[in-house]
Amino acid sequence: TLTVTGSINIDHVIRLPEFPRPGETLTGSDYRIVPGGKGANQAVAAARAGARTRLVACVGEDALAASLIQGFAEDGIDITAIDTITGVNTGVALIQVNNNGENTIALAPGANAGLTPAQLQRHSSALHCRQLLLQLEIPLETNLAAAKTARDQGAQVILNPAPAQALPDEMLNLVDIITPNETEAERLTGIAVSDEAGAGAAARALHDRGIATVMITLGARGVWLSEQGHGRRIPGFAVKAVDTTAAGDTFNGALMAALQQRLPLSEAVRFAQAAAAISVTRPGAQTSIPYKADINAMLEQ
Ligand code: ADP
Repeated sequence: TLTVTGSINIDHVIRLPEFPRPGETLTGSDYRIVPGGKGANQAVAAARAGARTRLVACVGEDALAASLIQGFAEDGIDITAIDTITGVNTGVALIQVNNNGENTIALAPGANAGLTPAQLQRHSSALHCRQLLLQLEIPLETNLAAAKTARDQGAQVILNPAPAQALPDEMLNLVDIITPNETEAERLTGIAVSDEAGAGAAARALHDRGIATVMITLGARGVWLSEQGHGRRIPGFAVKAVDTTAAGDTFNGALMAALQQRLPLSEAVRFAQAAAAISVTRPGAQTSIPYKADINAMLEQ
């Protein structure tokens, strides 16, 4: 099984002609409430791509949480390790999108901050898994505890280090595969990833900090795959992008499904890139995440 430990968010999205300035009120359009959170998005992507997937996460005591969890169950995700924490909100993101497609995001982590090591302890059996997939929207101590426990039991630990932040070696030492985008790779290493030389140097810096496999996602240009210091770029799929939200989440989830099938790394990256390419041709986050049949069709084109 794949275990994803991470965040669940409810995204409230409003489109505006421009961002309001302090003290200003602007009228927008297209208000939507959509399921989000990197943990949830990646679990959905993994399950739709065919992985047996369990999500360890926390929600608050609100009405929307129940419908979110029902959605995960409909995607075939094992929801038995999703806990409800009383007295807090389910994670919320207030997202403003302007006419240039740029966004601003205000986060209230709520129950995601409540996924503490003690809370995780209740689901230690979920960490007895083949793969553990982590991101950075829950407390770092929880990721450390999850990675330690899973690794001790022989799991492969995959970290998508998003949102971008610097990390201690204590965390990186517990990771088998890391999947930063360009910004995140730069934040972790201090090395700008604007070309292949930069990607190679950043990957080597991450190898030096104890990680065997580095995959730096390069947007439309594909992925820099580096194993034990030997790197190369695997091109992505040429598509017409309409909304790149959750491209990275789709990549990570689909990658897990491919690893569960024991595909070689380069083929797993291709599968994951096909999934991510489909997601950028569709609007939204979880709404844009493809199923296995669509991914295979893209691979056969
Ligand atoms: P993030 O969404 O985390 O910033 P990237 O932008 O690097 O991550 O995208 C992740 C992956 O999604 C890429 O490696 C690529 O395979 C795919 N992807 C992203 N943008 C495009 C695009 N415009 N066309 C095709 N594939 C894309």
